[in-house]
Amino acid sequence: MAAAPLYCVCRQPYDVSRFMIECDICKDWFHGSCVQVEEHQAVDIDVYHCPNCDVLHGPSLMKKRNNWHRHDYTEPNDGTKPVQAGTPVFVKELQNRAFASGEEIMLRMKGEQVTPRYLERHGFKYPIAVTEMEGLGLKLPPTTFSVKDVEEYVGDTVILPCLPLCIPPKDKHQTPHP
Ligand SMILES: [Zn+2]
Ligand SMILES: [Zn+2]
Repeated sequence: MAAAPLYCVCRQPYDVSRFMIECDICKDWFHGSCVQVEEHQAVDIDVYHCPNCDVLHGPSLMKKRNNWHRHDYTEPNDGTKPVQAGTPVFVKELQNRAFASGEEIMLRMKGEQVTPRYLERHGFKYPIAVTEMEGLGLKLPPTTFSVKDVEEYVGDTVILPCLPLCIPPKDKHQTPHP
């Protein structure tokens, strides 16, 4: 049986778990970690030159940038594709945008005012701080209620969707009638 072919500057056999990139000159394959090319960087490389070949042929050639609003920056900027989140255009727009503070937009309402009818008429566009729970129709468990109690109620084999909750510290809690 022939020996397994060896690749890369480290001369190791193929390992499926490691990212590799092919040199466009010598056609050998190289581990990203051996030649300092991260997998996410490889998509931007048009013609790859390995460390052996770039001595003679110069550095790798990067793809031509056609846009600043798509993650694949070879896509033409002909106005047909929307701005993708995280691209330079997106980040710039986000940085230039002014956001109202929570205090400015938050509605303060009594529990009895927050009704299905109210929400139907006004929608739920802004966060609502309920200053008096009375009339809200919600019953809160005692403060000692914990994940263990949930397990007791529903069993330990049920997968429950959860919302991350941020509870303000007690001393900053605002009371409706100071
Ligand atoms: Zn290697
Ligand atoms: Zn090469």
